[in-house]
Parts: sequence; structure tokens; C-alpha cells
Amino acid sequence: MYKINIELCDICCSCSAVCPTDAIFYTEFYAKIEQSKCIDCGKCAILCPVSAIETEEATSAN
Ligand code: SF4
Ligand code: SF4
Repeated sequence: MYKINIELCDICCSCSAVCPTDAIFYTEFYAKIEQSKCIDCGKCAILCPVSAIETEEATSAN
């Protein structure tokens, strides 16, 4: 599962351009991944210039 660290994200908007499933959207302050659309391809994490996108094991509450 990929997640965006909202403290690192500077909303450069490049991650949504490579997402094959349109899973990334933007709020006023950061980018967010719609988990139901994400297929864990990892493309966004590779290109993020500030390494804000990280994998997270499925240990979170939901
Ligand atoms: S891991 Fe792939 S599918 Fe998921 S948000 Fe990133 S680019 Fe989109
Ligand atoms: S590529 Fe990284 S810094 Fe740019 S909008 Fe996406 S998560 Fe934020």
C-alpha cells in the first residue's frame, strides 16, 4: 500500500500524471492516494522528487 507523507509533499503535481489508474488527487496542501483505485504499481513513488510516497504494510487501522 502506497501512502503520501503529507509533511513532505509540496504539491508538485507530477505523481498524478504517471498514475495509470488516476488514483492521486490533490487537496489544498498535499496530494492523496485514493486507496480503492491504487494498484500498487509504485510509479508515483519512483518519481516523487521529495520522496514523499512510501509503501506501508497493511498494519494500519483500515
Ligand atoms: S502506486 Fe501506482 S496506482 Fe498507486 S497511486 Fe502510485 S502510480 Fe497510482
Ligand atoms: S510527486 Fe511527491 S511532492 Fe509531488 S505532488 Fe506527488 S507526492 Fe507530492
